[in-house]
Amino acid sequence: MSTFTIINPTTAQPVKDISLADLAQTDTVIAKAAKAFETWKKVAPGDRAKLLRKFASVVDSHIEELAQLEVLNSGHTIGNARWEAGNVRDVLNYYSAAPERLFGRQIPVPNGIDITFKEPLGVIGVIVPWNFPMPIAGWGFAAALATGNTVLLKPAELTPLTAIRLGELALEAGIPEGVLNVVPGKGSVVGARFVSNPTVRKVSFTGSTTVGKGIMAGCAEQVKRVTLELGGKSANIIFEDADIEAAANSAPGGVFDNAGQDCCARTRILVQKSVFDKFMDYFEKSVKAFRCEDPNLDSAGMGPLISQKQKDVVTSYIDDSVAFQGTAPTGPGFWVPPTVLLPKNTQAKSWQEEIFGPVVSVLPFTDEADAIEKANDSIYGLSGSIFTSNLGRAMRVARAVESGNLSVNSHSSVRYWTPFGGFKQSGLGRALGPESLDMYTETKN
Ligand code: NAP
Ligand code: MG
Repeated sequence: MSTFTIINPTTAQPVKDISLADLAQTDTVIAKAAKAFETWKKVAPGDRAKLLRKFASVVDSHIEELAQLEVLNSGHTIGNARWEAGNVRDVLNYYSAAPERLFGRQIPVPNGIDITFKEPLGVIGVIVPWNFPMPIAGWGFAAALATGNTVLLKPAELTPLTAIRLGELALEAGIPEGVLNVVPGKGSVVGARFVSNPTVRKVSFTGSTTVGKGIMAGCAEQVKRVTLELGGKSANIIFEDADIEAAANSAPGGVFDNAGQDCCARTRILVQKSVFDKFMDYFEKSVKAFRCEDPNLDSAGMGPLISQKQKDVVTSYIDDSVAFQGTAPTGPGFWVPPTVLLPKNTQAKSWQEEIFGPVVSVLPFTDEADAIEKANDSIYGLSGSIFTSNLGRAMRVARAVESGNLSVNSHSSVRYWTPFGGFKQSGLGRALGPESLDMYTETKN
């Protein structure tokens, strides 16, 4: 059995070694999940609901422990990490209401009756990236378990600690053995086996667009169900009629949160020409005030990047188009300061590609049509923001931007009771909200 050494991104020091599952071990867990499905799908709706609420309450009493683990493993700020653990609890509570409300329909037909049922799929493989280990795991397993499926959860090799702990807490809460199985291992081994093993009936993948395309192609072989939550290059569009100071003050949080390792990061800022200089003045102040520091501190706005490799990738985008930068600690750890680029045009690599670090690019636009055209000039369509005081314009632009999640005069995008997912190459299907239940059930007529 091979192992992987977890590195604390804040100190670059080793934390512990994790055993990685091989192919045979993965198949053993898949078989165990298939066996557990035979009983889990028959658990009475009210009893399944109670178990999910118990799981939520056990998570709730371990928020601080889970948060500290995430700071250690992922370098998330302690404030974010507490929110992330709380999000797992909230998502479990939200979907605990589902088993008793998994309604089918009665549809009028001549000479008889017609009814539909929402049947569980069976064993679901949930593959999670390293940027938000807890929430993304929870979005997958809570809805899948609530609808009567059993789950294989593969955390990213870099960030398995909270997933492993959540698996233990599920057992402590009384979720039966085999129902939620955490399988740490390599994507190319464990993740790929979820795709190729026919006992796994659906893959719910969150990660890069490149790997996602391979997963979709692999699932096609068995017409295996697949949900994809992929990359993003979201636009933050600031119109001249907006509160420019407020827009500039919120822009750093919209892109540098989690050190920019956020699929929803607003990495392309579009500012109307007439207010461009005014915006940049305020923005320079807010970027320089954004605190990149030890994530254990309550005051931290962002911590380090996940790895030296990620730091190298992100740094390669920082070219001679830098307008200004914030500050970051020096010394050990994978630090990159908040960085603002002024690319020449929309063809710049930094404008088109997902950087997944604290780097944002700013370009001007002339009018509403130009803003929409520039915002949509991307293979991605995950998230985005519109700053304006004109309600009509807010609605028009929100409808015109090709993106799954938009906010006006704020950067909120993920609420567990509303659907989340991407247009275009940002994904397929939806997580969270009422929609997610359809992603883990099949309609039987
Ligand atoms: P990644 O390299 O695509 O990996 C994601 C997960 O897939 C990891 O668990 C990885 O395992 C696994 N994997 C890798 N190769 C695989 C294969 N051939 N078959 C099956 N599984 C495989 O992405 P990442 O670098 O961890 O995360 C960053 C990306 O995730 C960004 O593009 C970001 O935009 C995206 N993301 C999207 C959302 C969303 O909701 N839309 C949310 C968060 C992140 P290993 O780590 O062990 O290789
Ligand atoms: Mg990767």
